[in-house]
Amino acid sequence: MDFNFLHSEPMDLSAAGVENIKLPALNNGNITLNVLRLDKIHPVISGNKWFKLKYYVQDAINNNYSHLLTFGGAYSNHIVACAYAATSAGLKSTGIIRGEKPKNFSATLKDALEHGMQLEFITREEYQNKHNPEFLQYLSQKYPGSYIIAEGGEGKLGFMGASEILNLVDKSQYSHLLCAVGTGTMLKGIASVSTNTQQVIGIPVLKGFEKWMDQQSDIEDRVKQRTRVFTEYHFGGYAKNNTRLLAFMNEWYQSTHIPLDFVYTGKLLFAVDDLLKKNYFPRQSSLLVIHSGGLQGNRSLREQDLIF
Ligand SMILES: *Cc1c(COP(=O)(O)O)cnc(C)c1O
Repeated sequence: MDFNFLHSEPMDLSAAGVENIKLPALNNGNITLNVLRLDKIHPVISGNKWFKLKYYVQDAINNNYSHLLTFGGAYSNHIVACAYAATSAGLKSTGIIRGEKPKNFSATLKDALEHGMQLEFITREEYQNKHNPEFLQYLSQKYPGSYIIAEGGEGKLGFMGASEILNLVDKSQYSHLLCAVGTGTMLKGIASVSTNTQQVIGIPVLKGFEKWMDQQSDIEDRVKQRTRVFTEYHFGGYAKNNTRLLAFMNEWYQSTHIPLDFVYTGKLLFAVDDLLKKNYFPRQSSLLVIHSGGLQGNRSLREQDLIF
C-alpha cells in the first residue's frame, strides 16, 4: 500500500477494477470499451482526488505543516476529499468555500465538517482571488501553519499523482484513453504517461476550453499532439444538467450497472456514446474510460432524477 505515512490507509486501490462494457453501439466497429472504476476505491475520497492529493499531503507533512487549506464550491468533491485526506494524515483542514454561507449546508459540506474541516465562506468576487499571491499570503497568516492546495488540486504535484492512475491497468492495450476535465490536471497526468500510438481524449465539463490545450505549458508538444479535447459536452457549464443528461445516465446504468455522477462522468460517457454513434473511433479501437468517481455529488439532485 502506498501512502504509508497515514495513520490508517483510507483507500483500497485494489477495489478499482477494469470492467468490460458490452453495448450494441460497439459491435459495428468491433470496438472494445473498458471502464476503470476509480469510483470504487472509497465512498468519500473516491476517484482521481486521492491521486491528485497524495503528493501535496506528503509535501505538507515533510515540511512540517499542520494544516491543509484549499478552495472549492459547496458540492466540491475536492473539498470533501481534502477534509478526509487531512484527518487521515493527522492534519487540520480549512475549506475556503465559494459563495455566502448557506442556510442549509449541502451534504458535501456536512461531510467536510464531519471530517473536521473548518469552513470559511467568501463571496464569489473574493473567490476570484484564489490564485492571487497577496490573498494567499493573507490566508496563510490567518491560518498559521497551513499548506495551501489550489482549487481542484491543480498544479505540479497533482499532475504527478494523476499520472499514477494508469499504473492500475495494463495501459499498452488501449488505443484511446478518455477522461473528464475540470482543471485538466488528471488529463495532463494521463497524457504524460501515454505513448505516441495512443490518443488521449478529454471532455471538459465547463465552458471555455476551446483554447485550453494550446495554453498548457507544462506538457510537451508531442504529448499535446496526441491529446484532444472535445468542448461541446458541458451541458451549459459546470454542474449544469438537463433531462437528456439524466436520462442518459439512467439508461447507461440500466445497461451496465455502473453509476455515473452528473458533474463529470455523466458528461464523459455521454460524449463517449455520442462519439461512438458518430463513428469517431476507427475499427478495432480499444478504449479505456476513467470513471473518476464523484458519486457523492449526486446527492444534490432530486431523489426522483436517478434510478440508482
Ligand atoms: C475533480 C474531478 C474531475 C476533474 O479532475 P481535474 O483533474 O480537475 O480535471 C473529474 N471527475 C471527477 C469525478 C472529479 O471529482
